[in-house]
Amino acid sequence: MNRIYLHTGANLGDRAANLQQANDWIGLEIGAIARASRVYHTKAWGITDQPDFLNQALLVLSPLGPFEVLEKIQQIERRMGRVREVKWGERIIDIDILFFNDEVLETDALTIPHPYLHYRNFVLMPLVEIAPKLVHPVFKKTITELSAASEDSLTVGVFRG
Ligand code: AMP
Repeated sequence: MNRIYLHTGANLGDRAANLQQANDWIGLEIGAIARASRVYHTKAWGITDQPDFLNQALLVLSPLGPFEVLEKIQQIERRMGRVREVKWGERIIDIDILFFNDEVLETDALTIPHPYLHYRNFVLMPLVEIAPKLVHPVFKKTITELSAASEDSLTVGVFRG
């Protein structure tokens, strides 16, 4: 089984329900969710004039390969009504692949590990909760170390509903 770390985000509609719905689809279509972080609350990154995000990190066990997983997450995004919009703009659901085992992949369609994960507290905080000792295969640092070294100033907190 492949060990795949995913990150989900939502800042439109019933954000917590959107994350839950994405988890349901992920469990059905990609594989069992072995670990899920709590849901975190973050100010929007990049474009700040939009609703706050909810984010979550997941460990999924799946027989699928990286491009099959990419296709599945894009299907789920489309099914949930996401239309391609402004980069970093508002979204019903966004699903990213953070890590795929310890593979390093760089193609036009897919970069693994996700190229921005170490810059963003809204990715690092949920991830450190479920994978503190996971080693980034390029930087050779744990998620705990990357999180401690992050220069991102956005505040990320646990979402209390
Ligand atoms: P986004 O707007 O954040 O959903 O970006 C989606 C685009 O990023 C898609 O066209 C993917 O092909 C591409 N992409 C590259 N690397 C990744 C990754 N690790 N996870 C998800 N999408 C990726």
